[in-house]
Amino acid sequence: MIDWMAKYGATLANTFGSPRRVLARGEGTHVWDVEGRCYTDFLSGIAVNVLGHCHAAVLGAVSAQLGTLDHVSNFFASVPQIQLAERLAGLVGATPVRVFLTNSGTEANEAGFKLARLTGRKRIVAMEGAFHGRTLGALALTWTAKYREPFEPLPGGVEFIPFGDFGALAAAVDETVAAVVVEPVQGENGVIPAPDGYLAAARAACDAAGALLWVDEVQTGLGRCGEWLVSVADGVIPDIVTLAKGLGNGFPVGACLAVGPAADLFTPGSHGTTFGGNPVAAAAALAVLDTLRDEGLVAAANAKGLRLSEAVLALGNPGIVGVRGRGLLRGIVLADPIAPAVNDALLARGWIANAPRPNVIRVAPPLIVAEDELVAFADALGEAVEEVRNAG
Ligand SMILES: *Cc1c(COP(=O)(O)O)cnc(C)c1O
Repeated sequence: MIDWMAKYGATLANTFGSPRRVLARGEGTHVWDVEGRCYTDFLSGIAVNVLGHCHAAVLGAVSAQLGTLDHVSNFFASVPQIQLAERLAGLVGATPVRVFLTNSGTEANEAGFKLARLTGRKRIVAMEGAFHGRTLGALALTWTAKYREPFEPLPGGVEFIPFGDFGALAAAVDETVAAVVVEPVQGENGVIPAPDGYLAAARAACDAAGALLWVDEVQTGLGRCGEWLVSVADGVIPDIVTLAKGLGNGFPVGACLAVGPAADLFTPGSHGTTFGGNPVAAAAALAVLDTLRDEGLVAAANAKGLRLSEAVLALGNPGIVGVRGRGLLRGIVLADPIAPAVNDALLARGWIANAPRPNVIRVAPPLIVAEDELVAFADALGEAVEEVRNAG
């Protein structure tokens, strides 16, 4: 038997540590490793596979597009590219919207960063705890020091304020600020939702100062949190929205939406990409958006998220202190800093989740998840927490 783990360790960049398993196949909410073991995927490739694995609609759309027109340069346009931009623009509920298509979340945020710079103002207000990606611009907006510091100097002018602190927000945003960048729920920081009214307060502060409100919905958008866009659902129309994770159900595609006057900031030559907006990625994204809409999966994510939360709380497990998040992006808060061990115990039981903080288990199951899977996960979580607490 080939030792794929050893080969991985010898040849892949050592950026991710040791992979948990080598996976071979996926279908719906399930994946199988190279040894044939089955897992229920409650992480969805980090909030990506909203339709589960190998969904027929995505497979069909990608295959058909790949056999029709695979790639064109941005000297040319393609129909799927234009259709995708129209669909994404339609999610904002305001006009005009101009869409820059990318291949990832970090690239969507690079585009947002450049839009902010094009205002002519230099300061960007970001949030403590924020995660916006790993390229140098997005990294400059990311809070975690160990991600940032080895790569300094990063693009300057970024200041961090405490996430969710209304006073700090009001104090930081003045006429020298180009943009305020905020996640509706800080996923990487352990699924921490912004307090009620925080995005609206950011909108008001930006309006008063003539600054752009930039909402990073790379993780929260497109149904993950039970809304197409959390910002818009909360009554806030941002100037910039960045999207990626769920958009292609695993096919790499992202987008930076510029709304209102911000839509005019990019002009010919000010930004570019070879692959961004390619027809195959656009076809994948259109299939995802159609399926989410036609199957009512966005609204259903709210009910399913509540069911999951209820099932976890109903365990009455003394090792679990609460569940936070929105829709099907949930952080289960543990009483002790044992989340990595609990996550391993879950994997041993056939469940994929992750531990973004020492005391938080994050789940982001496919939006097609069945109710009995939500309940079964809660039971497995209860057992895993008990096992780790008893061992400790
Ligand atoms: C994952 C994530 C990113 C980065 O996306 P990549 O596709 O990994 O580059 C940016 N912002 C948020 C909020 C994310 O969750």
